[in-house]
Amino acid sequence: MHADDQVFVRLMESKMADIRATDILPEELVNLVEQVLPVQMRARDEALVTLPDPSSCATPEAMFAGSPLILRETFPHDLDQALSLFPILLDILGGTGGAASHAADTLRAAIASGELDPAQALRALPAGDDTLFAAWRQRLPESPRALSFLAASALWPSLNAAALALAERLPENLPHEHGHCPLCGSLPYISFLRQKEGLRFGSCSFCGFEHRIRRISCPYCDETDTAKLKLFRVEEYPGVVVGVCETCSMYVKTLDFRELDKGLLPCLDDMATVALDVLAQGQGYKRPTLSAWGF
Ligand SMILES: [Zn+2]
Ligand SMILES: [Zn+2]
Repeated sequence: MHADDQVFVRLMESKMADIRATDILPEELVNLVEQVLPVQMRARDEALVTLPDPSSCATPEAMFAGSPLILRETFPHDLDQALSLFPILLDILGGTGGAASHAADTLRAAIASGELDPAQALRALPAGDDTLFAAWRQRLPESPRALSFLAASALWPSLNAAALALAERLPENLPHEHGHCPLCGSLPYISFLRQKEGLRFGSCSFCGFEHRIRRISCPYCDETDTAKLKLFRVEEYPGVVVGVCETCSMYVKTLDFRELDKGLLPCLDDMATVALDVLAQGQGYKRPTLSAWGF
């Protein structure tokens, strides 16, 4: 799907309407995402990624044993593109109003004074180094995720472009008894069912790859005992099931829109179903990943 496809535009509009109808997320956040997603979709088409030599990737044997193809700290991406997207995203953030605008001003001043280097944030995210983000969460208590949002959103186009290209290197018949992404090893932030037989997929929280996972399992600890896995639904959200795991106390939402004739756009469906996160978290279950947006 491309940013200017009519299909994509209509799907995005309908998801934005779903998000607004929930009346839970702040309007600034909804406006932010509405502006950022088309920028990212266009950037994905333009990303320049150099794929690593197959000899530096995991072997098929290692992959069958559960190794991802590439570790996320070395996952290919277009750092130059991310650096050029950073100020564009910062401007969008600054234009949303409220606390986000204030956060954008503070970040912009820190970049101008040399106190913050965007490249450092763009390197810290793939490396899984939270130090810089933690410092900025403290500094911007009203928009604690502003910097991680910028880094995740600037990197996503080229990470996802690389993921789509690398998917061709996945061995055939790769087992899917682990919940993590076979390309980068990260956890899914949401899952969904597809095709007549209801094959289940997870959306990777790092590279955005959609990978097969077991239908009845916890994607976080691989529990398959149905006595430990419980499902709940809420009438207002047809087609969405929350699966909670008593073994690891995590939960995951699964979207099943096959009967509802509704397209999937996981990064927005996640936001449109945030009421279910509130419910699951209210019962003490946790979510191990952020949204696709870094907040
Ligand atoms: Zn991944
Ligand atoms: Zn679990």
